[in-house]
Amino acid sequence: MRKKIVAGNWKMNKSLKETKTLVKEIKKEVKHLHLDKNVRVIIAPPFVNLQKASKLLKDSKIKVAAQNMHQSESGAFTGEISAEMLKGIYIDTVILGHSERREYFGENDEILKAKVDTALKNKMKIIFCFGEVLEDRKKGDHFKVVESQIKHALFHLNSDQWKRIVLAYEPVWAIGTGETATPEQAQEMHAFIRELIAERYTSDVAEEISILYGGSVKPENAKEIFSKEDVDGGLIGGASLNSKDFVSLIKSI
Ligand code: PEP
Repeated sequence: MRKKIVAGNWKMNKSLKETKTLVKEIKKEVKHLHLDKNVRVIIAPPFVNLQKASKLLKDSKIKVAAQNMHQSESGAFTGEISAEMLKGIYIDTVILGHSERREYFGENDEILKAKVDTALKNKMKIIFCFGEVLEDRKKGDHFKVVESQIKHALFHLNSDQWKRIVLAYEPVWAIGTGETATPEQAQEMHAFIRELIAERYTSDVAEEISILYGGSVKPENAKEIFSKEDVDGGLIGGASLNSKDFVSLIKSI
């Protein structure tokens, strides 16, 4: 049975002090929830707060992920963080391909493919993000764009490697804009992605892959989006920054 996941991407938010407060609040609330055993909760604080967050969550069901990592193992890459460094602080999950990394830091298909390979070589799990911009959707190119992003970064992997991948469809026009894809638009794209994977691999591989939706998911719209057959949870930005909303999203899964 594929996993249901609610993952919070904190982006460049929360000081150490704020991290401690938010982590403690979420931990306390989640402890009282009777979550299904196939449900996973993940938070991705900024690099400098990862260690503190994982220490605070040591005895909890909540996992901690990094928001990014460099594709090289080590070297002269000022300001960057490697997979080995993350593993060294017991972080084994990383978000790759977020649209903000693609847009503001020039991460293209080639770089992302290299990041995927480095993460897998280091036995990490990956939440791989992709999605079309508004212009693509207006032109009716959204399926083509998403197909190309997934193929370029992931279709060289073998079936076994796919066990370490979670996909996150995040239409760029819905990220942080307050505009959400309709549950039907999300379902349509997720079903398309699952079919793509079934064609390239097998239906067993496709059925096992968790596909998250991301883009202005909030307590008011989460239940309907998460209820769709091929939507296995969400990657949450804004609403993961306060415990009330985030916990409400976890309850919606
Ligand atoms: C995100 O950045 O992954 C995201 C989905 O952001 P928001 O929920 O704020 O739209």
